[in-house]
Amino acid sequence: MKPANPQPGKVYITGAGPGDSQLLTLRAKAVIELADTILFDNLVNQDILDWAKPGVEKIFVGKLPYCSVITQETINQWMVDKALEGKQVVRLKGGDPMIFGRGAEEAAFLKENGIEFEIVPGVTSALAAGAYSGIPMTHRDGTIVFYMGVKNIGEIASHLVNAGKSVETLVAVVENGSLPQQKVVTGNLTTISQEVEAANIGTPALIIVGEVVKYHQEINWFNSIQEQYQQRIA
Ligand code: SAH
Repeated sequence: MKPANPQPGKVYITGAGPGDSQLLTLRAKAVIELADTILFDNLVNQDILDWAKPGVEKIFVGKLPYCSVITQETINQWMVDKALEGKQVVRLKGGDPMIFGRGAEEAAFLKENGIEFEIVPGVTSALAAGAYSGIPMTHRDGTIVFYMGVKNIGEIASHLVNAGKSVETLVAVVENGSLPQQKVVTGNLTTISQEVEAANIGTPALIIVGEVVKYHQEINWFNSIQEQYQQRIA
């Protein structure tokens, strides 16, 4: 029989990277392997759940369109409850947990409840999208990256122009960065909105604004091997 009050487990707030199952840190892999319970979001590549021990409890807590949403409060409480049951809990999030990932909110809740935690960083989607589209993130004139913006790209582009950016400023939109189905469209602040519509770009996608986008043509290494890549993954 289990003791009534086991030693509480620890919670690992862990970045699962941008999608490719090889773009996780060794630490992320190690904590998945030691987990008793995994709570995962919808941008997490589910192949990585196979690294877990047999019989591990795997709970999907992501938000999907047209589905009832598990609230943040519920997720927070589950993490605490599972840890109090003595379980090692891995809270898996797409990209990095501290970038639009509510990682800090979850950590604060765990702290309030006296639960030990660790934050395992992940490759954020902007860095992966940059690498896999051949676009560096830095340049002396500045680069701006928008997460969660593709649905409002027209508005974002016109605000940037109103704020003084040249209409010629280059823009790239990277959908499904690092994944075999990655799509990249480029344009400038006046054309990008139509380009996105014409290419039928959806989520998840990042918007990269700046002269750095010019490197895409030159170092676009991933495009030509995406198909083989798909087979490697399959
Ligand atoms: N914590 C995540 C971001 C979560 S917010 C990270 O560090 O990447 C969700 C947004 O991330 C999406 O709307 C999209 O803008 C971006 N995103 C996540 N995965 C992506 C991917 N593979 N390709 C492009 N954008 C991605």
